[in-house]
Amino acid sequence: MNIILFGPQGSGKGTQAEAIAKEFKLYHFSMGDELRKEIKNKTEIGKKVEAIMAKGELVPTEITSQIALNISKSKESKNGMVFDGYPRSADQWVFMSKNFKIDSAIELTLSDKEAIDRIASRRICPKCGKNYNLIWLKPKVAGLCDVDQEKLIQRNDDKPKEIKERLKIYYSQTEPLKKEYKNLGILHVICGNKPIKDVYSDILEALKQ
Ligand code: AMP
Repeated sequence: MNIILFGPQGSGKGTQAEAIAKEFKLYHFSMGDELRKEIKNKTEIGKKVEAIMAKGELVPTEITSQIALNISKSKESKNGMVFDGYPRSADQWVFMSKNFKIDSAIELTLSDKEAIDRIASRRICPKCGKNYNLIWLKPKVAGLCDVDQEKLIQRNDDKPKEIKERLKIYYSQTEPLKKEYKNLGILHVICGNKPIKDVYSDILEALKQ
């Protein structure tokens, strides 16, 4: 089973994708996390994408296609994947629709104001990549990662100017893909402005259909 989860930055895609992946034993494929791993490991890809990501722009399609194909061949993804943050452009969708059979596409909706407020309070562990939110997904000890006690940081691209750029890209390139999902009869629209567990049960309900 392959599921696309999409929505504006801050809509909770990462949190929900992680829960869905656990429930259905799928691979949680976050393109942003995969790219951050490349940067952390100082690979050739990492060197190419670091400056692009810091500005909040999209990295080239040949790179995202290569990453998606590599992961699809790994044994962790043998049951399928939850795609979080992929595809984000028409080019990426062309590549994806040729290489993957998608069963459902779930849109999480959120207003821009709410998205910006949520992202401003987002923090990440620089070591393991786990996400937190200072308001509704707090670490057990303030400022430290629950998994490895590393000091949490704010992502460079979570600053106001970069967030605006990312939201602009979302509405101009990613959200328009929903007409493709609608034509395929696989689109489900879910309100992301609810408590995490309520959004999750709405998603499970949609997946049952
Ligand atoms: P995210 O962690 O999903 O917020 O993504 C962080 C950044 O990674 C984005 O602002 C882009 O620079 C890059 N990125 C993530 N997913 C994609 C994608 N599908 N296509 C191109 N760039 C991406």
